Amino acid sequence: MNRQALLALLLLLFPILLLAQSKPGIVVQRHEAPRPKWAIAIHGGAGTIPKTMPEAKKQEYLRSLNQALKIGQEVLQQGGTSLDAVEKVIRFLEDDPLFNAGKGAVYTHEGTHELDAAIMDGRDLSCGSVAALKTIKNPISLARLVKEKSPHVFLVGEGAEAFATEMKVERVPNSYFDTPERYQQLQEALKEEPKEHGTVGCVALDTHGNLAAGTSTGGLTNKRFGRLGDVPVIGAGTYANNRTCALSATGVGEEFIKYTVTHDISALMEYKGLSLQQAMDQVIHHKLKPGDGGVIGVAHDGALAFVFNSEGMYRGAADSNGRFEVRIWE
Ligand code: ASP
Repeated sequence: MNRQALLALLLLLFPILLLAQSKPGIVVQRHEAPRPKWAIAIHGGAGTIPKTMPEAKKQEYLRSLNQALKIGQEVLQQGGTSLDAVEKVIRFLEDDPLFNAGKGAVYTHEGTHELDAAIMDGRDLSCGSVAALKTIKNPISLARLVKEKSPHVFLVGEGAEAFATEMKVERVPNSYFDTPERYQQLQEALKEEPKEHGTVGCVALDTHGNLAAGTSTGGLTNKRFGRLGDVPVIGAGTYANNRTCALSATGVGEEFIKYTVTHDISALMEYKGLSLQQAMDQVIHHKLKPGDGGVIGVAHDGALAFVFNSEGMYRGAADSNGRFEVRIWE
């Protein structure tokens, strides 16, 4: 190529390079954080959480969320699977009476406890759900056993309890789930609609690139016995798919089932090409009604998102880029 041709070529390329520098979308952003190797999000329920909550109580919640997040972070940092992180974090939250899952499960109208949980593996869509449990200390682990040790995906009531006996999981009397705070809430709910939830959930991306989601709950205070919520319904309260994201919801289960909330978010990403944040905003703010609840999510690229239309949501986020935070409001 002679010098004149080279000059002409450079003159031709100059405006294109200028354009590429100024137009977002043509040039890849240079200051973006690197794609995280692992990422995790947790929630401890959403609802009308008064900002006037006593400082000591607030600190208790934040401390517990912090600890739960650290448990998940440790598993993922050491190269553990997202499923293990999800199960371990949720077991911890189930054992904490602060949350409406496991030990802190709410009361049914009859004054008993019935627990639901689900776990899902984004790698192959394998999943396990359990519902209306009365004596299982850690429902999330029974859900995982359904996924891994049975040919089924959903076991309820007596059948689930019989499966638990075969699997030798830890059992407790139904009264183990009694707590004075939840009993007080039942008394209030007998007079009016309950406004606070406390379900727990966890979603994670591991260093192997796999997503997982899990959710565990006592359901809604003052529910009828036999009532199932969204938590164990795959695609409503819990969903994971390596092609899109992993999600866990909390709120008025009936609404989350009607709108198949978590599958809808995943479908908006898969078929419409929306980002995780856009898809979650669309479903939580434009389909559900204010006060219904919220969702946490992690996308296949490690992006984390939290969207809720209630006053607050107990939540936390961490990733391999050094993010580590827990929040209740804003
Ligand atoms: N979604 C749960 C249910 O309806 C309740 C909650 O999130 O607190 O069972």
